[in-house]
Parts: sequence; C-alpha cells; structure tokens
Amino acid sequence: MTTASPYVADEHGFFGPYGGAELPPHLVEPMAEVARAYEEASQDADYLAEYQALLSKYVGRPSLLYFAENLTRHLGGARIYLKREDLNHTGAHKINHTLGEALLAKRMGKQTLIAETGAGQHGVALATAAALTGLKCEVHMGAIDVAKQHPNVVRMELLGATVVSVEEGGRSLKEAVDSAFGVYAANPEEYFFAIGSVVGPHPFPSMVRDFQSVVGREARAQILEAEGRLPDYLIACVGGGSNALGLFSAFLDDEAVKIVGVEPAGEGLDGDRHAATMTLGSPGVLHGMRTRVLQTESGDAAPVHSIASGLDYPGVGPQHVHLSEMGRVQYESVTDEETLEAFMLLSRTEGIIPALESSHALAQAAKLAPTLSSDEIIVVNLSGRGDKDVDFVAERLGTKS
Ligand SMILES: *Cc1c(COP(=O)(O)O)cnc(C)c1O
Repeated sequence: MTTASPYVADEHGFFGPYGGAELPPHLVEPMAEVARAYEEASQDADYLAEYQALLSKYVGRPSLLYFAENLTRHLGGARIYLKREDLNHTGAHKINHTLGEALLAKRMGKQTLIAETGAGQHGVALATAAALTGLKCEVHMGAIDVAKQHPNVVRMELLGATVVSVEEGGRSLKEAVDSAFGVYAANPEEYFFAIGSVVGPHPFPSMVRDFQSVVGREARAQILEAEGRLPDYLIACVGGGSNALGLFSAFLDDEAVKIVGVEPAGEGLDGDRHAATMTLGSPGVLHGMRTRVLQTESGDAAPVHSIASGLDYPGVGPQHVHLSEMGRVQYESVTDEETLEAFMLLSRTEGIIPALESSHALAQAAKLAPTLSSDEIIVVNLSGRGDKDVDFVAERLGTKS
C-alpha cells in the first residue's frame, strides 16, 4: 500500500482546493473526453514511445545541463548550472508540451489544433507541432498583438497555421481566449483546444506538467552525473508555471532540495504594473480553474504587466498555489530592471542570450548565489533563448543610456 502523493491531482484534477474544471455545461463533456483520452494515452506504451522518439529525434533532447563557470566566478558563490531548454528546436520549452498535445489530438481523431496566443510563442510552438504531425492549426490572436508581434504571425503562417485576428473589445489576449473558446465550444468534434501552460481546466495542469517533466528528470540525472549529488536550489520563472513544474517535479520528494519560483514584479509590487500572482493574488476562478488570481474589486482578472510577454498572466497554475501553501516551493519576484541586468549579465559572461522570461530566474540566481558558498549548487531553468527579445532590449537600453 502506498499513500497518494501530495504532488498529484485527485481524479477531479484538484491539488488540495485548487484546480478542478469550472466550466459552462456544454464544455463539461468535451473536457472530460480529453481527460479520459489522456488517462488512456499516458498508460499506452506506443503513445509514450512515439512521444519520446519526437523528443529525442526532433526536439533534440536531452538538452544540456551547462555549468556556467564564468557566471559562477563573476557572482562569487554557489555553482550555477543552466538547464538549456533554449537549445530545443524552436528555442524554448513549449515544444515539449505542444508535441504531446498534438499526438493526443491525433489519437482522439481531431483534425485541428486551436489555441489563443498573446506574444505568439505558444502559437509558434503549436503550429510547429501541427506541421510535423499533419494536423491543421488555428491560432486566435488579439488584433493589437497581431500588429505588435508581426514576426511570430509570419512564422505561424509559414508553418501552415491560420491566424485569426480578433477585433472585439480590447483586441488583446482576453478577447483571443474568448474567441478561440467560442469556436472550440461550437465544434469540439473537430477541434482540440491546446492550452499553453499548466493552467485551465483538468486535465491540462497535470497533462502539461507531465509533458514538461522530462526537463526535471534529465536535470536530476545530469547533476548526479556532474556533481555526484543533488542541487541545493532549483530556480525557474513562473508565468502559468509550466517550465517551472517541468524542472521541479522530479525533485519534489527530495526534501533537501530548496525550490524557488520567480514571478514578474514588473515596475514594482506597490503599483499595478506587475504580474506577481503568487505574491499578491487572491483565490478566484480563471480560465476554468480554481487558483490564485490578480483581480479587480469587481472580481475580473486585472490588467497585468511584465517586460517578458510570456509571464504576463493574471493567473497561475493551480499546483503552484498548492505547493506554496504546503511550504514546498517558495515564490519570489524580480523587477523588469533586475531582469534586464540579468539578461545582459548572461549575454556578456557566457555568450548566451536568454529569453526575458528566463532572465527572471537568472536575476533571482544572481541575488542568491553570492549569499551561498562555492560548495553549494543552483540549477536554473533557462526556459528559452532571447533572440525574440534582442530588438526590444537594444531599444530599451539605448533610450535609457
Ligand atoms: C511562455 C514562456 C514562459 C512562461 O510560461 P510558463 O508556463 O510559466 O513556463 C517562460 N519562458 C519562455 C521562454 C516562454 O516562452
């Protein structure tokens, strides 16, 4: 007899009081169908083997665990290792879960992957998976984002996806979610709604985490190989929280390993230009899940801000809230300014340009490392590469100097 792990959701998708599937009645059965299909697939050796083969032969896994010797010397303290998700095909961790979702959609007999995207990173990773697996792909994007994120719109279209520009309301991510959900709800036979993080209704918080957990399994084996022991700290940025849970999952039972999630403090926690949901949010329901939400007094999701568009989200994956309340993971936040400094620091010391999202984790590591001894080890999840951010950073630093 084993007791249930506190780190696994119950059959209804609850992590403690968080998660579940809070859905309008007509979406209850379509989501339950996805949950049943994933439950079956996750025990099917053929499905798992096909997924593993794509990770190694297409994504290029395992990704490196790189000892950042120059950065370590510069900061003067703990030894810093980087889990190089930036080296994956498409340049970030998101491909790990979009491939798993595409294979599941195919297995369920769906023809089209549908999703919303803000900055376009999820849309590009999904369009990539769709092209590879021979599925159609439809990505809804607010008209403002379509204009702002032109290179990603071009990428998605080159990959064969249809980009739907949403002209309603504020013409931003919120309207894109409603638009994509509307199309899906009208035709769940044809479409598979592919959520881009460990958020949304059950089974997505568990399923996306499972797809990302390869990151932590690899990192655990790699650090044991390199150092002969487990790290003292893990650090990852948290938007919805998928790259973070991907790294953390393999270490949750290792009590000596301290785990830190890093949120965007934006322009500071005292104003409203941040997206620090774990730090300042309150219990609520968002996108079909019970979780912590940054909300207005009337209970709507608040407008949020981060210099990293992938962290710009007023909710957070329900398992993070549970891990925080259990005291297993600690959540910190870093500002836009600290993030830019970390972006420059890694570029200059290691010749690695990190995504602005990942730079949040690096900024936290830069604060922590000097307080530790050189016997201690920090593993940072470098969730993506920063090529997408270079023009923005150059402009921002140029006008500031
Ligand atoms: C999307 C994205 C994130 C944020 O998503 P999580 O689900 O919190 O991991 C982080 N880093 C990169 C590079 C991203 O593209």
